[in-house]
Amino acid sequence: MTDSGAAPAGTGREIILLVGAVGAGKGTQAAILSAELGLPHVASGNLFREALRDGTPLGEDAREYMQRGELVPDDLTIQMVMERLARPDAVAGAILDGFPRTVRQAEALDETLAAQGERIDRVVFIEVPMDVLVRRVSGRWICPTCGTTYHLGTDPPRLAGRCDNDGTELVQRDDDRPEVVSARMAKQIPPMDAVIDHYEAAGIVTRVDGQRPIAEVTAAIREALGQGAASR
Ligand code: AMP
Repeated sequence: MTDSGAAPAGTGREIILLVGAVGAGKGTQAAILSAELGLPHVASGNLFREALRDGTPLGEDAREYMQRGELVPDDLTIQMVMERLARPDAVAGAILDGFPRTVRQAEALDETLAAQGERIDRVVFIEVPMDVLVRRVSGRWICPTCGTTYHLGTDPPRLAGRCDNDGTELVQRDDDRPEVVSARMAKQIPPMDAVIDHYEAAGIVTRVDGQRPIAEVTAAIREALGQGAASR
């Protein structure tokens, strides 16, 4: 990979995209990088879930799509993420997780950044085979109080069904139920591949093997970002 797609010296914010299917580990890696780089972790799925929880009009509009495991329409999604990126804590940049998920979203992001003299620094594609993804996602349970994620197969809580930190009863996200997961994957993977093709054309994609242990994936991403940062 060359540095040809990296932002020229002195331009704007550091915008990093983490792309991967549901369960590829984007959220985990984004949280680690966010702490390391001091950039906000902007996850479109979390923004939608917050809107749903707060009962905002956006949440109501997104509800049925989310429950069916389908993508929320582009216009709603683009507006939500752009508003988030305009908030003061994103002045130095952001790590985007789960956005863009369609070429239209990618183009909208590119255009918004270009209008501000900015561009995406690097796109990290975390690759994991489909069967591994379905296994990972359908075993995922979450603590509704503290947000800790468990996996019944690989990372179970000490006491079945209860959070290790606060004892709260764990819940499964509606869209993580096994019957919804496969449908979610089948619908979401083709547009994701199209997003990767879009950024491959700009030469800014780094592919990372997401089947490796978490720390190794983080190291591979750091290396990818180091290459991008070298030309800034
Ligand atoms: P996630 O937590 O990333 O799996 O997202 C949960 C749900 O939010 C998805 O299944 C979609 O319904 C919706 N969503 C999140 N990000 C996007 C996006 N970029 N475009 C459209 N819908 C999205």
